[in-house]
Order: sequence, then structure tokens, then C-alpha cells
Amino acid sequence: MTGMEKERGLSMGQVEIDPAEITRVLQELVAIPSVNPAFEGGCGEAGVAEYVKRYLTEQGIPYTEQPVQPGRSNIIGMLPGTEPGPALLLEAHMDTVQTTGMIIEPFAGTVMDGRLYGRGACDTKGSLAAMLVAMATLKRSGLPLPVGVHLAAVVDEEYRYTGVSRLAAAISAGELSYCGAVVGEPTGLHRVTAHKGCVRFYIDVHGKPGHSSEPDTGVNAIEQMAGVIRYLKEEIAPAYALQKHPLTGAPTHCISEISGGAAPNTIPGSCRITVDRRTVPGEEPLEVWQGFKEKLQELERHTPGLQLTVQKPFIIDYALETSGSHPLVRQLAAAVAQFAEGRQEYGAAYGTDASKLARAGVPAVVFGPGQISLAHTEDEWVPVEELVSAASALAGLVLHYRRDGM
Ligand SMILES: [Zn+2]
Repeated sequence: MTGMEKERGLSMGQVEIDPAEITRVLQELVAIPSVNPAFEGGCGEAGVAEYVKRYLTEQGIPYTEQPVQPGRSNIIGMLPGTEPGPALLLEAHMDTVQTTGMIIEPFAGTVMDGRLYGRGACDTKGSLAAMLVAMATLKRSGLPLPVGVHLAAVVDEEYRYTGVSRLAAAISAGELSYCGAVVGEPTGLHRVTAHKGCVRFYIDVHGKPGHSSEPDTGVNAIEQMAGVIRYLKEEIAPAYALQKHPLTGAPTHCISEISGGAAPNTIPGSCRITVDRRTVPGEEPLEVWQGFKEKLQELERHTPGLQLTVQKPFIIDYALETSGSHPLVRQLAAAVAQFAEGRQEYGAAYGTDASKLARAGVPAVVFGPGQISLAHTEDEWVPVEELVSAASALAGLVLHYRRDGM
């Protein structure tokens, strides 16, 4: 054992992550494009899924395949524990966002000054690499594991969460059983125990088209929509401050898209906006939407000429709230402290797969190398040192896990 290893607290019953191995694995993952098919240049995750299967096979770790959509499957690697009972789940998504506008070579995996660059390096192939290498290192160590551990590499996190939804359905059906889940996303090795959810829906305003030389002969849907937008900003949004959550902050909404009108010389007969409302723990997305609907119907009744439809949500997602005193969170904190200083419990504004697992009854925490501010960027990168620390902490977590606490 070297001096540095002693400093890092490695001792009997611990394993050592090889920085060269984890760097290589992440470079290989980055080299395989897996842009979500919903985005420009989207090719899907099949290549990464093949890689995960090959890697697990080489390491002697059995896996199952969970078909989600044609050509898109979750891969679940499994290491057994010595004690019976539910396993720990490590989960990371395989898809990335598009590479449009990137100023680096997206699939090169270049390492420079301790940073590994590429699309997905940070979000979230870095976490996937850490989980793969942690599993492989545990397997090679031959040490007995107090708890079984599964690694679920899932599809479609960046668009419709169908991968984790399939996994959650299997959990709800009793086909899989977990005592806790670590969901890999770039948290800078902090523990994210709460995050927001969302509900997204369209509001349509219906006008009456006519010749634009005589604007008073019709009902201008765009001008009516202006009133709706002002109402959302001035009458709805100010109340959000009252709902401030200690970790995630207050709810928000954003009018994220607008379209309307048919021609330059026609009074617009229709206008549509997209509302992206972020929910906080404790809010039910469908109830939030219902609240919008009722208030806007009230506005409709009191505004001459206004006719609107609040469409049913096209996306809902749940907020996450896991107790900081849950054994999983406390033991993850202790494991991380062995390898990285000053890491804390945080809330996040973005959503993750964790809330879907929590909804299925699995206490979940979000954790991984890299900063969320570097995700989806033009020069995405992850610090190699954090990769190694993440894998070390995950391996340590599994090796010493006690379902009943510390
Ligand atoms: Zn992600």
C-alpha cells in the first residue's frame, strides 16, 4: 500500500480502482455515439448497450436485458451478496443529448490536464464508467459482498424516461427488489436527495380570423394570449415563493414556446404556448395542472372575447425527496468522505431517473462525477480524479453496506 492509499484510507476489505482502467472505459463509452433518437443526429443507445454487455461478460458478471422499445434495451448486470434480501441498485442512463454546436470532437475522449472531454463524458457516461469499473473491481477482488448489487444501464433518460419507467414497472411488479438506488448524474460527488419534477402542457387561445386591414372585425388570438401570459406572470408566479422547499427552492414556470397566426395579412385565429412548470417535492404534477386549468377558466370567464383550452399534459415527471437520514444516504456520505472532501447534501432544479425509482418504492439518491453546469455544453468534460473517486466510493459503499444502517 502506498502512502497516498493510506491517506485515502484504503485498508483491508477495500478495493483499489485503477485510474488507467476507468479512463479507458470512459474513453470507449464516449467513442460510441448514443444520442437520443429524439434529438438531431440521434442514433440511440444500442452501441453502448452492446459495450456494456461485452464488458460485463469479460468480467464474468451476469446480466439480463430488458427490452424497452425496438432496438433499445436496458442492461442489468448483477453481483450476488452473501446475505439474502433486496440488492443495491446503481443506475445510469446510456443516452446523451445532440452534438450540434460542440467546439470539441464529441467522440474523441481526449484527456488533457486531468479532464476527459466528449459528449456524455459528464452526463452521464462518467457515472456509467464509474459504476462498471466499481462492479468489475469488486468482482475481481473476490471479497464477500454484504449486499447484492445491480447495475442498470438504461435508455432514454434525456427525453421520455422510458428506460427507467420500464425498470420501475419491473420493481412495482415484484420482479426486481432493491433496498436503495444510487442514480448516476453529474453532482460533483455531492449527494442530491431532492429535486424538482415538472408538468408540461399547451395552452391554446382561439381567436376569430379576419382581414388584418380591419383588426376589429376579428378576435386576435395573439393579443389575447398576451393577456394570458401576463396573467401567468403577475397573478400565478408570485405565489410560488410561498411554496419554497428547503433543498430545491420554489416552484417555477417558463413559457418555453409560442406559435400563432397564419399569414402576415390575417388576424390570427389561433395561438399556442408551451408551459414548463417545475414542481417541488410534495406537489403532484396533475394537481398542479388542474390548478392552472381552473384559474385560467376563471380568467376566461372574466375576459371579453377570450376563449382558451388548457391541454392535458404531454409530459409529467415527479419530484424527488429522500430523507438525508436514510441509511443509503448516510452510508454514501461516509463512503465518499474517504475519497473526496467537503461533499454535502443538496437539492437540484433538474429532474433525474431517481424520482421514478423512488415512486416505485426504492429510496434513491443522485450521485456522480462532474458538474451539471458542464452537461449538454459545447466542450463537455469530466475530471478524471472525480471519476476515480466516484468508483472508489461506490465500491466502498457496496463492500460495507448494511441495510439497517451504519
Ligand atoms: Zn443525465
